[in-house]
Amino acid sequence: MRLEGKTALVTGAGTGIGAAIAHRLVADGARVCLVGRRQSVLDETLAELPVGSAVTVSADISIAGEVDGAVGVAVEFGKGSLDIVVNNAGIGPVGTIEDCDVDEWNQALAVNLTGPMLVTRAAIPYLRRNGGAVVNISSVAGRRAFPGLAAYCVSKAGLIMLTQQAAVDFGADGIRFNAVCPGWIRTPMSEQDMQAVIEIHGGDVDSAFALVSRDTPLRRVAEPSEIAGVISFLASDDASFVSGEILAADGGSTVLDVSTLAFYDRSAAVL
Ligand code: NAD
Repeated sequence: MRLEGKTALVTGAGTGIGAAIAHRLVADGARVCLVGRRQSVLDETLAELPVGSAVTVSADISIAGEVDGAVGVAVEFGKGSLDIVVNNAGIGPVGTIEDCDVDEWNQALAVNLTGPMLVTRAAIPYLRRNGGAVVNISSVAGRRAFPGLAAYCVSKAGLIMLTQQAAVDFGADGIRFNAVCPGWIRTPMSEQDMQAVIEIHGGDVDSAFALVSRDTPLRRVAEPSEIAGVISFLASDDASFVSGEILAADGGSTVLDVSTLAFYDRSAAVL
């Protein structure tokens, strides 16, 4: 129970990776405030958790007033304390810089970059009290360009620098900031992304996941729980001297040089 006595706020906690993070933090002893836009999916996640271990608050993280309200609920739930923030909520509109919709571009930056800044800023006065931890969910797309996904990649790259900037600015307050860069994880968002792969190559979601992970060293996509464990570690005192770190959780995909693929045995993809 390495998070015993800690209070955490998780954004985008109703689905996918965020819901898995909520489950893992509670299992590790934390009390968790689940934040998201849709009350119905937050309620579904809440119903799966032990009674009294979590609360929900419906808020759009790109709107400062709603963020302040959500942090207030988390602090109240923590009886005046907030120790852990996980900035997980994100969106992934498609398009190159030539053909993307400018409103969608602005919304991606608002949710994926400004949102974590607003949540973190509102939480800092509380995180400062006991030496808190912030974990930002970036992406391999924050480190590597992805065809036709400009706003997402740029916003996730910005989130990496936000993590490092905050680590520098608030390290003296004892607050740690780290980011995780997941590869392909099975969630509603990635299943939606697979539609573009299916349009090009045919098949179904399972064959699309097999295709996108064919050249990954571990040759598979991951389950949300595999990311949640990494986040629990970074949020815990086991990572007490880790700050400003950008940790890949991608099955090894970003260490591979694409020019070496001609040497690669592609026969062993598994789901
Ligand atoms: P998801 O779509 O299941 O979850 C995202 C959650 O964020 C949703 O519950 C959504 O309602 C919430 N959200 C979106 N905009 C919001 C807003 N303005 N305010 C509050 N909540 C908002 O997707 P997921 O795959 O679980 O993604 C979680 C995070 O992981 C995202 O930041 C995503 O970019 C990142 N990620 C996912 C993958 C993957 O393969 N699934 C890979 C790398 C990074």
